[in-house]
Amino acid sequence: MKSRIVLLGPPGAGKGTQAEILEKELGFTKLSTGDMLREEVRNGTELGEKAKIYVESGNLVPDEIVVEMIKKRIKNISGAILFDGYPRTVKQADALASIIDIDLAISIDVEDKVLVNRIAKRLMCSKCGAVYHLINKPPRKEWICDKCNTTLYQRDDDKEETVMNRLEVYRRNTLPLIKYYDERNKLVIINGNEGTINSISERIKAALEG
Ligand code: AMP
Repeated sequence: MKSRIVLLGPPGAGKGTQAEILEKELGFTKLSTGDMLREEVRNGTELGEKAKIYVESGNLVPDEIVVEMIKKRIKNISGAILFDGYPRTVKQADALASIIDIDLAISIDVEDKVLVNRIAKRLMCSKCGAVYHLINKPPRKEWICDKCNTTLYQRDDDKEETVMNRLEVYRRNTLPLIKYYDERNKLVIINGNEGTINSISERIKAALEG
């Protein structure tokens, strides 16, 4: 089975949700740069102070900062590893290739109108990073994380104006990675528009076996 995986896809495609499932069911270690950056911002660290303005406006944090952050985390990981939200630029992908050999990039393909709806109803846990959706994946208790009992919140950058910018940033900076991994024969595209969360994760698991 493929064990060094990159999950690609626009904001709201379901990367975080699918990463959680793969982590739980297949034992992947999930590395989510979005989760890491939000934690740094929340904790008011030096890195968080630098990253804040970018995260809040939906722009990309400079490559050097994110690459350093990932390099530090990778060092301590052995076994299957899954990148969620990284790389987001060709520069980040090159940096990753210089430290680890990626087996597969899975791009979750979702139409814009579906994305906007998903993001508007997304809830998150600030403690463990679990992702919920008011309709498709509601928590068992309203606004409470099933896993760690923390109160859920809506991300500031999930506001409509910021979402539009994030989609534009994705198209401009991250979409070229589809071609990047395709040229290296490492790309699989998964239809993330239709079907339940579980049926999409079955498609992803099949790709990992393939
Ligand atoms: P996400 O949770 O993946 O949607 O990321 C939230 C925000 O964190 C993004 O809008 C960016 O501001 C920042 N971010 C996350 N991952 C990266 C990355 N690989 N490169 C640059 N910025 C990132």
